[in-house]
Amino acid sequence: MSLALLTGRVEALVPGTYTAEAQGMMGPVPVTVTVTDREITMISVGPNRETPGVGAVAAPMTASRMVEEQSTAVDLVSGATLTSRAVVAAVEKALTAAGEDPKAWRRTVPIPTEIRKETRTVDLVVVGAGSAGMIAAVAAREAGLSVLVLEKADFSGGASGVCTGAFLVPDSHVQRELGILDDTPEKFERDLLTWGGASTDPVTVKLYSENAGLAVDWLIAHGVRFDTQSGLVRPQGSETPRELTLRGGCPEYAQRLRTLTGESGAEILTGTKVEGLRIENGRVAGVTAKNGRRGVEYEVSARAVLLATGGYGANRATIEEAVAASIDKNGKHPNEELLSAALYGGVVSADGDGLVLGAEAGAARDLGNAATVRWDGLEVLPGTGASLKRANQAVLPLGSILVNREGERVVNEAGPDDAILAAQHRAGGSLFLVMDEGAFGSFAAALKGRGLTRETLDGWIRANEAKTAPSNAESTISEEGASNGVAGSVATATAPTATEAAPAVSESAFAPLIVRGTTLEEAARRAGVDPETLAETAARYNGFVLNGKDDDFGRPASAMTSPLSLSGLVYILEEKPRYATTQGGLIANGRLQAITPEGAPIEGLWVAGEVARGALGQAAVPGTNLGWAATSGLTAGAVIADTLKREAAKNTAAVTTGGANAASGADTADTEAPSAPANSVKLPESEPLPVTGPTPASALDRHDANPAEGPSARDAALDGSR
Ligand SMILES: Cc1cc2nc3c(=O)[nH]c(=O)nc-3n(C[C@H](O)[C@H](O)[C@H](O)COP(=O)(O)OP(=O)(O)OC[C@H]3O[C@@H](n4cnc5c(N)ncnc54)[C@H](O)[C@@H]3O)c2cc1C
Repeated sequence: MSLALLTGRVEALVPGTYTAEAQGMMGPVPVTVTVTDREITMISVGPNRETPGVGAVAAPMTASRMVEEQSTAVDLVSGATLTSRAVVAAVEKALTAAGEDPKAWRRTVPIPTEIRKETRTVDLVVVGAGSAGMIAAVAAREAGLSVLVLEKADFSGGASGVCTGAFLVPDSHVQRELGILDDTPEKFERDLLTWGGASTDPVTVKLYSENAGLAVDWLIAHGVRFDTQSGLVRPQGSETPRELTLRGGCPEYAQRLRTLTGESGAEILTGTKVEGLRIENGRVAGVTAKNGRRGVEYEVSARAVLLATGGYGANRATIEEAVAASIDKNGKHPNEELLSAALYGGVVSADGDGLVLGAEAGAARDLGNAATVRWDGLEVLPGTGASLKRANQAVLPLGSILVNREGERVVNEAGPDDAILAAQHRAGGSLFLVMDEGAFGSFAAALKGRGLTRETLDGWIRANEAKTAPSNAESTISEEGASNGVAGSVATATAPTATEAAPAVSESAFAPLIVRGTTLEEAARRAGVDPETLAETAARYNGFVLNGKDDDFGRPASAMTSPLSLSGLVYILEEKPRYATTQGGLIANGRLQAITPEGAPIEGLWVAGEVARGALGQAAVPGTNLGWAATSGLTAGAVIADTLKREAAKNTAAVTTGGANAASGADTADTEAPSAPANSVKLPESEPLPVTGPTPASALDRHDANPAEGPSARDAALDGSR
């Protein structure tokens, strides 16, 4: 419907196509807007650097809402409000250029006052369309169940759509094809129990370790791709090389899962928040949910409900509750200080809804150690941290060191993450990564695909230069010199000024601490790091590189292959503690069924993914979160299908023998038995269960497999440090 028809407005736009841009989360978001004299006919969003899997998905969604509603006062896409706001602001600029007062377009389309009720009946309702939920939905569909997936955000994916993509592949075909033949579920189980500590649940760990390889094989058979080129990595806490990265990272992973879910015949309703559980005769019998935008309330009857709602990291109150609940014998929470200072780098949807829903049915929970804090956060927005894990790894062997504010090295930079975190904590919560220009080029390149680019970093550097008001022309650095990526290049003194060259970050915009200098001293001064001590530290470190031996912290020679070049540009960046995922959650039994505090299984209620506590204990081995989400999702899909079929068979038998009436809902399940199993999910408390779907003949895409290469350079570096 046109705005003119809706409002009676007669003002005319000047027909045409207009372009404009506004600042998003990671840089400018450009739009092209086509209008007639009274209607917006098209809005397209141009190339931008918004976070893949979140902002990049939300931007076109916001644009189509504006065209649909002929208004700029549309609902922002939940989970990506900054990007949505940027699209709206850019469109309003374009409308201004078209001769209209943008205020006239801020017309709120009334939320339907009459709420429509809809009822649905399915075998399984999955709450949350992250990786655990979508994989469970596909597995359940393949086993013959009817499935409805409800997702509160406007797009599916959750944390699984934005994560880094490190994925543990123990005991899988892909691991064997990459030359690791001796990994076993028992070894993986041992690692999980050791690394996770006392709060690891042996039953859940067993379930994870016995099915992790099957889950990886299942994913590959379903078209999920891993980047196998640089071989397997052995992460900290892992006895064996078992880590691969998802090809295309988590955005591609989530996209593949969306496609699979759609193809499986499971229905996904996005923008639909599950608000309550339906409990009948002591059994969880469905959910209530609401889509506010459409004005629909759903009453879903289901024989099984799977909570796959992700973590609770975005809910500060629950984090604090977790901290308070896990006081050690000295009356202190081991993670408390770290967590209070840590940036949050997860998704806003991870606000613990699953815990609240579980509580309605009396489900027990253990919030565990709250969250694993990592040291490698870049504060991209106040309080928000992006992971620098991959970028740090890329510069480790090159000209780079970590120092404290006093300019001293404090740790073996190639050492275990928890040792670096402890050093960072002792240093007052920040470490400063000092890089020469060659290292910085590799650092920026490694951020590609993570929503951060060289341009973003350069924009922040210029914004910081503008804020610290360079005292003379010599301190202004040439763009050419700054971007050529060549170690040792000397900047010219006649470069454009910082403010002239800062289109992406305005002076007032927030910028994390990242600076550069034509000398080490200049960079140090800008970063607030002691310049004299830093100069001594760098000279001493370069001596270690020359001798192939770090006398101070034992950084292995393989992790210091080139000195910190002092003849060219120097970059310094502040790294702060961050967390993205949470450790605790609802307690499940060995069949992933939620249980009461007394240990009784709650009929009809299952859990999977980050909301289910136990497999990862106090600290997650890197790559285990995604592995757990996939494994528990696949297992949940299979076990729910098995349970419902057994219940249906029992009820049929009871009816034919004149017993009690069969439970409702069996009519909605496909009557066919699942196709012959290629693998079996192994459950500690039950018979083996079928997982449908082929085992990959070859887990590898032959073009990028390179078994001969073995563990990566990083792996070698880490090995040397342990
Ligand atoms: C930045 C970042 C990097 C990471 N990197 C890695 C990595 O490299 N390796 C690794 O192993 N792990 C990593 N993780 C952790 C990993 O991504 C998560 O643990 C995992 O994806 C969780 O999957 P999930 O399906 O349980 O939850 P999610 O993927 O978060 O999905 C949960 C979904 O439930 C929805 N939901 C919640 N409440 C409701 C409700 N009431 N109604 C309807 N829907 C609801 C949410 O909107 C969300 O879409 C990373 C996490 C982040 C944030």
